[in-house]
Amino acid sequence: MLVRKVAIWLLHDLRLHDHPALQAALADGAEALSFVYVWGPPHLSWGTFSYPAPYPASRRLHPLRERFLIESLLDLSARIRPAALYILQGEPHEVLPRWAAEKGISALYAHTEIAPEEKRYQAAVQKALQAHGIPLKLVEGNALYEEAQLPFPVESLPFLFTRFRQLMERHATVKSPLPSPATLPPWPETEPTGLDFLKAHLQTLPPPPERAFVWQGGETAGLKRLQDYLSGPVFTYKQTRNNFLGENFSSRLSPYLALGCLSPRQVYALLREAEKQHGANESTYWLFFELLWREYFRWLLKKEKGRFFAAGGLRDMHIPWQQDEKLFTAWVEGRTGYPIVDAAMRELKSTAWTSNRARQIVASVFTKNLLMDWRWGASYFETALIDYDTASNWGNWLYQAGVGTDGRGFRWFDPVRQARLYDAEATYIKTWLPELRSLSHTEAYFPTPQVRQRVGYPAPIVEWQPSLQRAKDTWYRALRGEPTGNQLLRLRADED
Ligand SMILES: Cc1cc2nc3c(=O)[nH]c(=O)nc-3n(C[C@H](O)[C@H](O)[C@H](O)COP(=O)(O)OP(=O)(O)OC[C@H]3O[C@@H](n4cnc5c(N)ncnc54)[C@H](O)[C@@H]3O)c2cc1C
Repeated sequence: MLVRKVAIWLLHDLRLHDHPALQAALADGAEALSFVYVWGPPHLSWGTFSYPAPYPASRRLHPLRERFLIESLLDLSARIRPAALYILQGEPHEVLPRWAAEKGISALYAHTEIAPEEKRYQAAVQKALQAHGIPLKLVEGNALYEEAQLPFPVESLPFLFTRFRQLMERHATVKSPLPSPATLPPWPETEPTGLDFLKAHLQTLPPPPERAFVWQGGETAGLKRLQDYLSGPVFTYKQTRNNFLGENFSSRLSPYLALGCLSPRQVYALLREAEKQHGANESTYWLFFELLWREYFRWLLKKEKGRFFAAGGLRDMHIPWQQDEKLFTAWVEGRTGYPIVDAAMRELKSTAWTSNRARQIVASVFTKNLLMDWRWGASYFETALIDYDTASNWGNWLYQAGVGTDGRGFRWFDPVRQARLYDAEATYIKTWLPELRSLSHTEAYFPTPQVRQRVGYPAPIVEWQPSLQRAKDTWYRALRGEPTGNQLLRLRADED
């Protein structure tokens, strides 16, 4: 008797709960079910931007993210039994259709991707599958809201986050997450599925460094982290979320959300549950508020497509971004001479994570004071973050660079003031900059030239006031569409 074999193509949805593609496959009458993950592009390809040596065409997947991804896949392979997980290696549009045809798959299901590159891969796979008569059925997933729930067409998404938030809060309700299926149809074959490759590869990856918060990848660990966070720390989130050090000052759910080990609707549902049990407050609301930021950037990417990655951003501003290797390297290595920036960049390099406030500060200094091409910064983050997410990363970078959807004119972060406000005892600075440990906390915010010389800490790579003024002038000129420095230089060169 012919069995209806159906497969789920996984990408950013490494879970069983709230998995619309899986539910659609089951509703389709799957009698034998397998999941398939392609170990190849887009995750494993090289960065879109090839920045200069010593960071040539960086590999996208940070080893700690790679570890997290493998752990998540291994966790899922155990959770889905008696269904099977196949790991294929290669280009998705080459290996997937071949595999699906060999296995006699009737239909392949996946969640619709939103980033251009992933969409291209999905389209290529869809086309290649057609040759075998196998449909690729794409289903919405991975967001708080479905497109039909938006109170406006995506093309008319409000430019400002606040407007988006107000409309969503007023006119849309987050749907309940779909439950995990109690059982799954068994997969009849017992041949090797590629998991041995993952296990062997995991052994070759470096362990998380000592000072890092250790994220165990996978749905099981993600649900546990969510439960732990919602059982206490969330109730003070509003007061703690701008901290730099500690395990619970923010939810640390981002790696789980980025790879879909947790669905945002699941986070929302359990947050509401926690509010019912222990009472809602401004902190619990604020976690929802941050999930709305994530949501907003997703729809913004869907709306803006390629402009999301353009130098001039969503405002098409002509800013003469610098592509200076020396400045870039100093920033990446945490040697800018601004202690809070250097602490954050060294933390990021060592642990693949840094807090939201730290990300804002380093991105602001990069794009405002160094006037560096924001796409270099975003590309570096892409290769450096354990929680890399295309919409959140590029959307936040656009915003910080002043070419996104910030409605408030020219905005910047003063790193010394930020250190004073959020790292009052300079504990974070001293954690990541051992050369400053002997200093008093006030000295550590911004050491004098003599102290720098004594402890071997570099002088600031840019002077604060002039660099900020230059950025401000440049930004306002670009906003008014007047010629910027670069264009003027080009004009003069043309005259020569
Ligand atoms: C320059 C820059 C780059 C960033 N790149 C990424 C990225 O690649 N991936 C990523 O997940 N987040 C990114 N963020 C957003 C934010 O910094 C992280 O989501 C957050 O620090 C993760 O820690 P958490 O899970 O403890 O967050 P919490 O503060 O506990 O927030 C809960 C969740 O809300 C979402 N969230 C919070 N803040 C934001 C925000 N500003 N934008 C979008 N979603 C948000 C995240 O999913 C987060 O897990 C970036 C921010 C900046 C300024």
